[in-house]
Amino acid sequence: MDTPLSAAKTLDALKAEGLTVHEHSGWTTHNRDSATGKAFGPVIGVLIHHTAGHGDRELCYNGRSDLPGPLCHTWLGKTDGLWMLAHGRANHAGAVDLDVLNALRAEKKLPNDNQANADGNDCLYGLEIENLGNGKDPYPDAQYHQAVLWAAALCRAHGWSEKSVAGHKEVQPGKVDPSFDMDDFRADVKKQLAVTKTAPSKTTKPSTPSKTTKPTGTASKPRVDLSRLIEAAQADPARKQGHVTYMAGTNLTEAALVKLGYLAKTYAGDGSFGSTTVAAYAKWQHHLGYTGAEANGIPGKISLSRLGDRTGLFNVVA
Ligand SMILES: [Zn+2]
Repeated sequence: MDTPLSAAKTLDALKAEGLTVHEHSGWTTHNRDSATGKAFGPVIGVLIHHTAGHGDRELCYNGRSDLPGPLCHTWLGKTDGLWMLAHGRANHAGAVDLDVLNALRAEKKLPNDNQANADGNDCLYGLEIENLGNGKDPYPDAQYHQAVLWAAALCRAHGWSEKSVAGHKEVQPGKVDPSFDMDDFRADVKKQLAVTKTAPSKTTKPSTPSKTTKPTGTASKPRVDLSRLIEAAQADPARKQGHVTYMAGTNLTEAALVKLGYLAKTYAGDGSFGSTTVAAYAKWQHHLGYTGAEANGIPGKISLSRLGDRTGLFNVVA
């Protein structure tokens, strides 16, 4: 239980996490507190949504005819960046499951949401991510990363762990947002929270600019060439067992799929992107929120980059 951050502290926290923050005019006093007679807070966690649309920043600020704005605290565009829209109570969570709220507050594993018996707008910060949410509309890496930073920033400011993060679909029965996997998202927030946020020491010798701006380890990781891997995934299954198109890239991809539990170890490491690997890769795509032809087991730039990042095994070159 915590007092909500002031507008200034919110900005400080987001910027300290590395985010560029845009401010909608009027956001610091835009809320539903006086209209409902209910103040925002104490706060217990952060809630992630997809907007189910495009170009909906103003809609999230103003609201709809049936639901007055603000509809979230922060709106994250596909390419338009992160925008503060509200400070205080916002209409984003609606009626939610009290058992889930209690678990969030205690940072315990979330139970199934099967009731709508508590007010989620009282106690949750809300992020709306611009995405159709249909499983075909990808979350660009940069957008997803900003969502992770947003959640981590608020958790860090309150001293919460990643277990104070939930998706709308986890707290309100019938909701499907966001369309990506929330355990994955929490794992990414956890990783971000493990990064210590301290000012660089003044006493250390300044290193070259290119080195200071690069994330640690990026340069030393092996690379997987996306187009060669796609070729392998398209060619190998139809050829005779064990056909090898791109040994190094396939082995790294398979090692990553094994690491995340999508592929049995016995199928990995022979350099062939066979049908079992295609099926395992399709599961990974499903996990990221893709469906249908977007989850056909043929690697794409976003899914492969995410796989390399999650496992720390490789970087992708396209
Ligand atoms: Zn939602």
